[in-house]
Amino acid sequence: MSGIQDTVSCLDGYDPNALRVDKAREAILACIAPLKKTETIPVRKALGRVLAQNIVPSINVPAHDNSAMDGYAVRFADLANPLREIGTAYAGRPFDGKVGPGECVRIMTGAVMPAGTDTVVIQEVVKKETERIVAPPGQKKAQNVRYAGEDLGRGKAVLHPGKLLTPADVGLIASIGMAKVRVYRKLRVAFFATGDELVSIGRRLKAGEIYDSNRYTLHGMLARVGVEIIDLGVVRDKPALLKKAFLIAKKKADVIVTTGGVSVGEADFIRQLMAELGEVLFWKIAMRPGRPMAFGRIGKAFLFGLPGNPVAVMVTFYAVVRDALLHLSGRSDGYAIPLLNAVAAEKLRKVPGRTEYQRGILFQEEKTWKVRITGQQGSGVLRSMSEANCFIVLEHERGAVAAGEPVSVQLFEGLA
Ligand code: AMP
Ligand code: MG
Repeated sequence: MSGIQDTVSCLDGYDPNALRVDKAREAILACIAPLKKTETIPVRKALGRVLAQNIVPSINVPAHDNSAMDGYAVRFADLANPLREIGTAYAGRPFDGKVGPGECVRIMTGAVMPAGTDTVVIQEVVKKETERIVAPPGQKKAQNVRYAGEDLGRGKAVLHPGKLLTPADVGLIASIGMAKVRVYRKLRVAFFATGDELVSIGRRLKAGEIYDSNRYTLHGMLARVGVEIIDLGVVRDKPALLKKAFLIAKKKADVIVTTGGVSVGEADFIRQLMAELGEVLFWKIAMRPGRPMAFGRIGKAFLFGLPGNPVAVMVTFYAVVRDALLHLSGRSDGYAIPLLNAVAAEKLRKVPGRTEYQRGILFQEEKTWKVRITGQQGSGVLRSMSEANCFIVLEHERGAVAAGEPVSVQLFEGLA
């Protein structure tokens, strides 16, 4: 495999000192390849995992033609006359006789259609006259019948490798009687925070110290991405300690994520260390918040070195790292976070030449979805993320936005 530097320098418009967000993503994707290892697990455990096999039903679902409603199973051709009720079909307890001319069977939802019948008339519209029933005019042939194989056909693959398994998918797999399923093994991600000023919670702060919050933010974001997490704690800005942390991380993980230490003032000794340990590029990304970032390889593990500022960590993670982790995890099911249209409820400051991820609150006013910012947008103001329900993504070329202009947003929450 060719080196990271060789791969990225072939890309058009690759400029490590003013790298567009889309180029950074492209460069990373060009260098990484999905995991190949798989494991077979019980269906119940498969929620949120990435499918590694085709799911091919060995039965039809439903297995038989059956009723979609409670009512009467009839022969459509006989409907003009009163019909004699000759029995009942329950879900799981079929009626085993044959329905002849002038006859019908009372039928429950999910019950197998009795032989000879082709249509179900719902019970609410039927008039009952002792032994006979009368259906009003206007019934349609084959109404309220669900056909065998209508949902899933035997032998036809319904799910493919690379799909994230949702509650619907695990239900679907259960519906064809499969007890186990093959999935990709979880991506292992080791992470640590760097900085001499950082203190772990539970200890008292001394002058100039701050609590390490990035490790909590990162833990949360990684947990949602569905990877196996290896927390290596806070590491001081000392080459020997950092080296030790990287060596442990590369042994344990497929991916290493760090925060802090990549800004211009701090990057020098990290660069030296990286040159010794692996192949790592230092980028300035044309984005805000964000900007400094390292990407590369230490041994077999990929490294994402994120900035230290609390909002910058999150924005860089979602804009650049998230999709890379999903790609590595084997996903191929269109996992990009959708960009949706909204209307700016107020004017937004923006300069051309960088992609901005302002923290927004999406709300509905007179049937229009509008978005405003969460106040102070500094890259250290974590509250701006906590209060937001979306990013307002302002494109690279775009300048200031006037109130009433369309903007793109990415929602923080979705139905999974
Ligand atoms: P750095 O990228 O290391 O220069 O850090 C940039 C800013 O982010 C500094 O103000 C740091 O104190 C702050 N910072 C770095 N790491 C963390 C962390 N783990 N938790 C909270 N703030 C951090
Ligand atoms: Mg630092």
